[in-house]
Amino acid sequence: MISQEFDFEAPSALPEALALLARHGDDATLLSGGMSLMPMTTLGLVQPGMIISLNHIAELDYVREDGNELRIGALTRHADVAADPLIGAHAALLAEAASLIGDVQVRNRGTIGGSIAHADPAANYLPAMLALGARLRLQSEAGERSVEAKDFVKGIMTTAIETGEMLTEIAIPKLAAGTGCSYQRLVRVEGNFAIVIAAAITEPGRKAARVGLGNVAPGPVLVDVSGHLGNGLDDAALAAIGDAAFDAAAEAASDLAGDANYRREMARVFARRAVQSATDAADAG
Ligand SMILES: Cc1cc2nc3c(=O)[nH]c(=O)nc-3n(C[C@H](O)[C@H](O)[C@H](O)COP(=O)(O)OP(=O)(O)OC[C@H]3O[C@@H](n4cnc5c(N)ncnc54)[C@H](O)[C@@H]3O)c2cc1C
Repeated sequence: MISQEFDFEAPSALPEALALLARHGDDATLLSGGMSLMPMTTLGLVQPGMIISLNHIAELDYVREDGNELRIGALTRHADVAADPLIGAHAALLAEAASLIGDVQVRNRGTIGGSIAHADPAANYLPAMLALGARLRLQSEAGERSVEAKDFVKGIMTTAIETGEMLTEIAIPKLAAGTGCSYQRLVRVEGNFAIVIAAAITEPGRKAARVGLGNVAPGPVLVDVSGHLGNGLDDAALAAIGDAAFDAAAEAASDLAGDANYRREMARVFARRAVQSATDAADAG
């Protein structure tokens, strides 16, 4: 039950939403899929004075090509990200991240923008965004700016979004032909949030490789493992990749799903697995 009263607006155009945000400042809370906001509101963890629903703003729901990039509107639902042919063709890592979120109800309702803005350390998209080199478009009534995904999260559920701003679009460079990718999650029960995530990309010819790790720090962590590919992906290279992931997970926290040391060891295992699997995928064409 939501015990506190709040005002509610459901604009149908982006400028209207930005004007409401500007007018109500910190008192305003955006509503996208509500999959995180509604539970937090019923628990009293969030007490909004004004909720602005984005659900009638059709111009925020799209996937399109723009030269060498894909552009995804913030209101695009997880199920649509998972099934979109452009994302499947040019950013398959993201489609896989979306397909593994929660259950069918959550995927039908939750949005890519809401998930990224919420910045849960265990959430699926951000590790993939880091590996893909995504940029996030933040708009306010005063203008707009672009933030690299790797600079977006500032702490646990704290982001670069400032008062009066909203996330409106995610831009992702299209993957070149011959790129390998693999999304690996450690979960105890299918549909649960992951204990550890590793999202890997190997560039054509194994010239470069990187891994986005999730749930091993307050925010996602990007590990550049290109330097370990020199002699091909032999046991020594995989061990070095695992060590790099272990080191990168130094800020891992303990919770009921696993303690910090377990998470670091699993970062090692899942980073190796993701890079191996991405390389295999690239080799298989
Ligand atoms: C049972 C269950 C299981 C789940 N499992 C997973 C899982 O395995 N992996 C995973 O990644 N997620 C999981 N989720 C979370 C799910 O992905 C949510 O959809 C997501 O966290 C929030 O997206 P939303 O669109 O519902 O946002 P909302 O709940 O509407 O909003 C979340 C927060 O973001 C803010 N916000 C929303 N849109 C914007 C915007 N455009 N700009 C700025 N701020 C904005 C809101 O004000 C709020 O603070 C699960 C959720 C549930 C209920």
